[in-house]
Amino acid sequence: MTQHPGINPPPFNTIISDIIDNNIILNESYCYPRGGGQQGDTGTIRKNDLQTELLETMPGESIIHPVVSTQGFEIGDEVICTINHERRNKNTTMHTVQHIVSAIANDMFLAETVGNQISEEYTRIDLLFPDRDKFNSEDLQQAVNDIIKSNKDVKIHKWDRERILNHEQMRHTKFMDRIPNTVTELRVVEIMDVDLCPCGGTHVDNTSNLYEMNITNVKSKGAGKLRISYSLNNH
Ligand SMILES: [Zn+2]
Repeated sequence: MTQHPGINPPPFNTIISDIIDNNIILNESYCYPRGGGQQGDTGTIRKNDLQTELLETMPGESIIHPVVSTQGFEIGDEVICTINHERRNKNTTMHTVQHIVSAIANDMFLAETVGNQISEEYTRIDLLFPDRDKFNSEDLQQAVNDIIKSNKDVKIHKWDRERILNHEQMRHTKFMDRIPNTVTELRVVEIMDVDLCPCGGTHVDNTSNLYEMNITNVKSKGAGKLRISYSLNNH
């Protein structure tokens, strides 16, 4: 397994490398830290009969695992970390659908995604249009759902910066400026025939794992901008 799955991730064994207040640092972690509009994972960290609740995982120099209590845990302990599936699966499906919505809004209306916020119940995306009067939410919803239903594979690549920046179909490369130059290879997510962009989030491996989306709200966010909100069936 080269890629930890985006949905139903299995528990993993690792070693505690540091404890700072109520935060645990692990030698290796598959927990998603909050970022890119997506919530961090929650779950449990367990050593034999001792278990503590993992609160929302946060980014840092090393991934930070805030817990309810570190009592009884020590540096060097072998632990089992279990990610909360319900929360992770919903964030993963919401986030993967967001790729499709942003890609199709770009293809259909030349809209650029300038912000997004994901939750388990709904997601909102801020789109900047050259002409927002051309936007039609039924057309967007239909096109996105057609892709969801067409069993497209989602592939994860590790490509160097040059390859990413020189690729004609690549989207959303602006944020790459914020990633330190010492990071030479970045994760690229490809939804076959739909989207290709660098992304560190969690994804399904085929769109058959997604649910149909419903655009629930569209509102103005100033000149040329619309904020669209959507929910997914079964969430
Ligand atoms: Zn992503």
